[in-house]
Amino acid sequence: DRIITAGATREDEAVEASIRPKKLSEYLGQAPVREQMQIYIEAAKARGEALDHVLIFGPPGLGKTTLSHVIANELGVGLRQTSGPVIEKAGDLAALLTNLQPHDVLFVDEIHRLSPAIEEVLYPAMEDFQIDIMIGEGPAARSIKLDLPPFTLIGATTRAGLLTAPLRDRFGIVQRLEFYTPEELTRIVRRSASILGIACEADGAAEIANRARGTPRIANRLLRRVRDFAQVRAQGHIDRKVADDAMKMLKVDPQGFDELDRRMLRTIIDSFDGGPVGVESLAAALSEERGTLEDVIEPYLIQQGYLIRTARGRMASAKAYRHLGLRPKTGARE
Ligand code: ATP
Repeated sequence: DRIITAGATREDEAVEASIRPKKLSEYLGQAPVREQMQIYIEAAKARGEALDHVLIFGPPGLGKTTLSHVIANELGVGLRQTSGPVIEKAGDLAALLTNLQPHDVLFVDEIHRLSPAIEEVLYPAMEDFQIDIMIGEGPAARSIKLDLPPFTLIGATTRAGLLTAPLRDRFGIVQRLEFYTPEELTRIVRRSASILGIACEADGAAEIANRARGTPRIANRLLRRVRDFAQVRAQGHIDRKVADDAMKMLKVDPQGFDELDRRMLRTIIDSFDGGPVGVESLAAALSEERGTLEDVIEPYLIQQGYLIRTARGRMASAKAYRHLGLRPKTGARE
């Protein structure tokens, strides 16, 4: 596995429980999202109503699950968690919805992967807190309406564009999570270090943050690997030099790129003359799935200006050439 994968590994899941923020005040960064959510939560509580349905989108590891738990916690309600592909039958969804307490949160991760039949059941549930379910089969089948307690659906997805329009339209609140700045990630690393009892200087935390690809999950994972290194080589003490040496060993470069990022940029430059190259051809050349390329590898490269997405495909920017120690080809965009 990549040390800088944004997806959750088993080790992450074990540790994340202890460092996951529980309150909005502990949810660092994402200032506009935090400010808005604070207002919506306070207003819903004052009216004694369920919070409007919330759609959260953003690349993996930026804190969608964390934010959902924080919202439920700040509302003082329970949270039930499921994910799009897990809900196979209408009955699965009905069981989840009818078991909610008034104002509870139902968190559906990967909501873009719900089947069309399940989405149909969800529409009236979201709009009128009612569901129609079919009882029996054949000519004896009949549909009955069930009333549901008012609830808040929180849906998470990597890209809003993956959702069908009717589903997207039923969310009153839509929040997009952005990559974190190095300063925000430094605060997150320092907070995690203090919870986990790791001695980490401010410059050490900053060095880790710089290479964490704007992603808290990666920052926390790098912190744990640097801690191992520090324990064996530096009496458990992390400063800039220790963090830098550990990163060299992990082959994570100062931009936070690893072999796979560099391979992707190199492939575009060497095999496709810098692009544009279609995403399918690129995925084939890299032996990676198109989804992995789109959701995991390229968002950060694009955000950082190393990769340019055009209507005709992906192109390496002049910055990408320079990063690999090459001279930009004539006409390469900055
Ligand atoms: P995925 O969709 O891949 O599950 P996610 O976007 O739901 O990713 P989370 O599991 O919520 O990501 O976050 C990963 C970890 O990053 C959390 O365990 C948490 O410790 C940390 N984290 C996320 N956001 C923040 C934040 N704003 N402040 C501090 N820590 C954060």
